[in-house]
Amino acid sequence: DTMLKINDLCAKVEDKEILRQLNLEVKPGEIHAIMGPNGAGKSTLGNVLSGRPGYEATAGHIEFKGQNLLEMDPEIRAREGLFLAFQYPVEIPGVSNMELLKASVDARRAHAGLEEYSAIDFMKMAREACKAVNLDQSFLKRGVNEGFSGGEKKRNEIMQMMLLEPSLCILDETDSGLDIDALQVVANGVNAMRSADRSFIVVTHYQRLLDYIVPDYVHVLANGRIVKSGDKSLALELEAKGYSWLENEAV
Ligand code: ADP
Ligand code: MG
Ligand code: MG
Repeated sequence: DTMLKINDLCAKVEDKEILRQLNLEVKPGEIHAIMGPNGAGKSTLGNVLSGRPGYEATAGHIEFKGQNLLEMDPEIRAREGLFLAFQYPVEIPGVSNMELLKASVDARRAHAGLEEYSAIDFMKMAREACKAVNLDQSFLKRGVNEGFSGGEKKRNEIMQMMLLEPSLCILDETDSGLDIDALQVVANGVNAMRSADRSFIVVTHYQRLLDYIVPDYVHVLANGRIVKSGDKSLALELEAKGYSWLENEAV
C-alpha cells in the first residue's frame, strides 16, 4: 500500500531545472522529514505536488493513492486529501477564515460523496480546533491570515489541517520563526493527527522540531534530488556535520 510514490521526478521553475530525478516513497502512517541546504528544491517539491502554477514537472511519475497525481487538477488533489502548509502563508483580505475553512471542508466532503456540515456543527468543530492550537476564536472571523503574526499563521494552518483531515500533509518549514511554545502546539497538532492511514512530509531546517515530531525517515534533498536517507539519527548527524559532506553525492 502506498500513499505517495515519486519516480525520477524532474521539474523546472521559470525554465530552470530544479528537481533532477527525485525518488521518494511514502507509505500510509509514515512521517518523512526532508532536510537540506537552502535552494535545494524542498519547497519546489511541495509546490509541484500541490500543483502550484509555474512549477512544471518535465519528467517522471507521481502516484498518489493509486492515481496519477500529475494528471489531477490542483483542486482535485486537495479534495483527494493532499494538504500543503506553506512556508509563507498568504493573506486573503475580504475572505474570512471561517468561510474559507468551511468551503474547503465541504468541497472535500462533496468529493467523497458526503453531505456538507451545517453551519452550527461546523462552527462547533472550528471552535474545538481553535482551542487545540491555542488560537482565540476571534480568528475565525478575521480575514484569512490578515494581520496574523508569524506564529498565528502557522497555528492557523494546523487548525486548517485538523478540520480538513488530509491523507497526506506537507509541512514546509512550519517551524521557522516559531517560539518554543508555538512549536509545541504545532507538534502536538501533528502528533494528535498521526494515524495508520495518514502520512506527513515535514520539511525543516532544524533538528529541534524532530524531537517533538519523531519521523520514521529523514531524507537529505540536495541539488534537486534525495542524496541520503536514514532514520531520525540522520537529523542529529546533519546538525553536527552540516551538508557539505554530502555534496559529492548530489552531483
Ligand atoms: P528550498 O526550499 O530547498 O530552499 P526552493 O525549492 O525554494 O529551495 O528553491 C530551489 C531553487 O528554485 C532556487 O534556486 C530558487 O531560487 C528557485 N525557485 C523556486 N521558486 C522559484 C520561482 N517562483 N521563481 C524563480 N525561481 C524559483
Ligand atoms: Mg529555503
Ligand atoms: Mg523552502
